[in-house]
Amino acid sequence: MTSATPEHDLLAAGQGMYRLMVELYPLCRSITGEGLRATLRRLAQEIPLTIHEVATGTPVLDWTVPKEWNIHDAFIAEASGQRIVDFRDHNLHVVNYSAPVRERMSLADLRPHLHSLAEHPDWIPYRTSYYHATWGFCLSHHQLQTLRDGKYDVVIDSTLTDGYLSYGECVLTGESDDEVLVSTHCCHPSMANDNLSGIVVAQALARFFLNRPHRYTYRFLFVPGTIGAITWLARNEASLSRIKHGLVLAGVGDAGGLTYKRSRRGDAEIDRAAAHVLKCSGELHTLRDFAPHGYDERQYCSPGFNLPVGNLSRTPFGQYPQYHTSADNLEFVTPKALADSWHKCRSIFDLLERNYRFRNLYPRGEPQLGRRGLYDSVGGQSDAKALQLALLWVLNYSDGEHTLLDIAERADLPFEVIERAVSALLDAKLLGKA
Ligand code: ZN
Repeated sequence: MTSATPEHDLLAAGQGMYRLMVELYPLCRSITGEGLRATLRRLAQEIPLTIHEVATGTPVLDWTVPKEWNIHDAFIAEASGQRIVDFRDHNLHVVNYSAPVRERMSLADLRPHLHSLAEHPDWIPYRTSYYHATWGFCLSHHQLQTLRDGKYDVVIDSTLTDGYLSYGECVLTGESDDEVLVSTHCCHPSMANDNLSGIVVAQALARFFLNRPHRYTYRFLFVPGTIGAITWLARNEASLSRIKHGLVLAGVGDAGGLTYKRSRRGDAEIDRAAAHVLKCSGELHTLRDFAPHGYDERQYCSPGFNLPVGNLSRTPFGQYPQYHTSADNLEFVTPKALADSWHKCRSIFDLLERNYRFRNLYPRGEPQLGRRGLYDSVGGQSDAKALQLALLWVLNYSDGEHTLLDIAERADLPFEVIERAVSALLDAKLLGKA
């Protein structure tokens, strides 16, 4: 397990992720287009990332790859030419995926295209218009209230053309073809927790596994939400059975405790590994059952696939007021929270990597532990009693069927203690590989 990672290493990892987030923050991402592509290109400097481009119009499951959206400029200006709402100040000012417009119009005509948040009058909301052609601007409620009647020049210099949907894929081959899938959405413009936190934690996990041997093959996906996951699934349907465990990462940078949402299966190994790691951390956390709303686990856990994919977040989406607003900014996310999310993911994957089965070589009656120096041999250690119990649990349930996690759960002991018992029993030649 990785719980012994020194504090300063964790802090350095968190600061590294945060620096990358600061770099990616200004880009105007969407479900297609140059902002998304630039984000993937930047990630490709950190990890071996393949950028896939799927043409507009390509059928993907029940959907079709949409047009490519690009934006150069957008503003609302007074008749004097003074810009009062400016895309260059904040890319949330434009409804993401807005169709182009260039008109002079009255405030009354403009008003249906303006979006604000009365309950948080200083914040700019995040709005999208992916699947029906429209346009709009988002602004603070305070600013909306200052707009006077009169004529305004309204310009959105965007293009919606046949192009490509881009997504990134990083595959780190392990000893086995069995895969761990890590997926994060990367289609949101300038917001930090949603979705840059998932992006930077996923790339940091990829970097970690890049530099050490691992049992599973790790597949990291950086996909535009919904349509990207659907596109990837459509193109990889034939090889989905390789996915043994999966995690959707999103909203992992805020100061709240971790929330794990189980896969649709509910009792998949990833569900149990995540629950075990969170419980053993002793920190405040929440476990939730699957529900068909949320992030891309909706796609991976749709009934026709039903993959063992859970979702790790900190405060769940929609449960913090900054969600989908300009207040989800670089101050809302901390290096410490990013590091903690990264570390917990590592602990979950470490557990999966080491969740083997063993066989008790002396299963008829208890083998004599004292003779082998295993009875009360570790007196004085604070968890000596736990280890003593763990020896009995491991011996009894190592029947070739139960995994170490099965045993840890039944014994209500940390996986690490079970592993230490395994190690002692292997040394004493009481245990063999199943
Ligand atoms: Zn979102």
